[in-house]
Amino acid sequence: MAFTKLGLAKQIVEGVRAVGYTEPTPIQLRAIPLILEGRDLIGSAQTGTGKTAAFALPILTRLERHTHGPRVLVLEPTRELAAQVETAFRGFARFTDLRITVVFGGVGYGAQTSALRGGVDVLVATPGRLLDHLGRGNCRLNGVQYLVLDEADRMLDMGFLPDVRRILKQCPTQRHTSLFSATIPPEIETLIQWAMKDPQVVQIGTRRSPAETVCHAIYPVASNQKSELLIELLRRLDWDSVIVFCRTKHGADRAAHILKNARHSVAVLHSNRTQSEREQALRGFRDGRYDVLVATDIAARGLDILSVSHVINYDVPQHPEDYVHRIGRTGRAQALGDAITIMTAEDAMHVHAIERFIGQRIPRTKIENFNYQYTALFDEGQGGRPALHERRARGARIGRGYFCGPSRRR
Ligand code: AMP
Repeated sequence: MAFTKLGLAKQIVEGVRAVGYTEPTPIQLRAIPLILEGRDLIGSAQTGTGKTAAFALPILTRLERHTHGPRVLVLEPTRELAAQVETAFRGFARFTDLRITVVFGGVGYGAQTSALRGGVDVLVATPGRLLDHLGRGNCRLNGVQYLVLDEADRMLDMGFLPDVRRILKQCPTQRHTSLFSATIPPEIETLIQWAMKDPQVVQIGTRRSPAETVCHAIYPVASNQKSELLIELLRRLDWDSVIVFCRTKHGADRAAHILKNARHSVAVLHSNRTQSEREQALRGFRDGRYDVLVATDIAARGLDILSVSHVINYDVPQHPEDYVHRIGRTGRAQALGDAITIMTAEDAMHVHAIERFIGQRIPRTKIENFNYQYTALFDEGQGGRPALHERRARGARIGRGYFCGPSRRR
């Protein structure tokens, strides 16, 4: 099935071609006709499935005459996602005269205010900064025809739902609403009841299963040897680019410092960094200027970072969903990827929750000739073969698996 068969406007199909897409992804195939019909839509799909185009293309097709205020409003949880979605809209709409703008916090108001006051058709925004602009009278939402709540569960996690509700109250009730969320917790269910009309649900893939192309491994270690193990892993694994996930901003800074001392080129991404630092970090990582990106979970969802060979969980995520989102950074678009988790005794409960959530036991692995201190975790299981990513590690084997789950085909 080609994009031309989906009922999209000619200049939008040309835009898609210019962006380089040739065939719609499964979520695009299912969501585009529904949005074109004017249905409200709940989309649930793994990250990297093409959900941005799934909502952007039909909405752009249906937009007609200009009005002053935005007719499309897309709410995003983070600045990075907002910027990414705006770029995607600009690409698809390059053969139209639609005005597309993004507003988010952490930068000055000047340019955003001028853009809003100058007139805008598609507005991509994070909730807090949008409310500021609304409070200052820089734009009104009474012309919104299409509303998209992207990464709704993330907005919930980040405490944005009250802001989202405030924004929704300023939009007309006669509108089309699409909501994208990896999970539908009760709070999102309530929002759906309140904000949507008879929505169609499009679910692609199983919600819980992490990217199938990813190879998982756990490296148990005593807590005082975590950083040593991280350095050793980076020394021995055959990686191209890696994201190291930490639980806290402070932890991320500390890990980055340790990695820099070990002569890695490192970028850091967390919410205490200024907007320009965050953009610079992401750009540098995408361009290959940095080969390690140290990040908190802010970077775990939705960010379009291609070709990450390894994700290393320096800290075990406390929510199983975050494990799935983190490892979604690798194994994108059918590329092979490795997800490595460093585990200490304090993490046992969270690791078991992750294993329950993804429905599989993750192989435990050791590095050979590493000066391990004893931890009770080593008694969990014995025997088995080394994890697959170890077997294809630079040189020969780097380690010894002492418990392995089912073998995977790569
Ligand atoms: P998204 O899930 O919207 O963040 O998209 C994930 C990645 O897939 C992005 O790099 C998109 O540019 C890419 N993508 C989305 N749709 C298609 C498509 N139909 N063909 C090829 N690449 C696509």
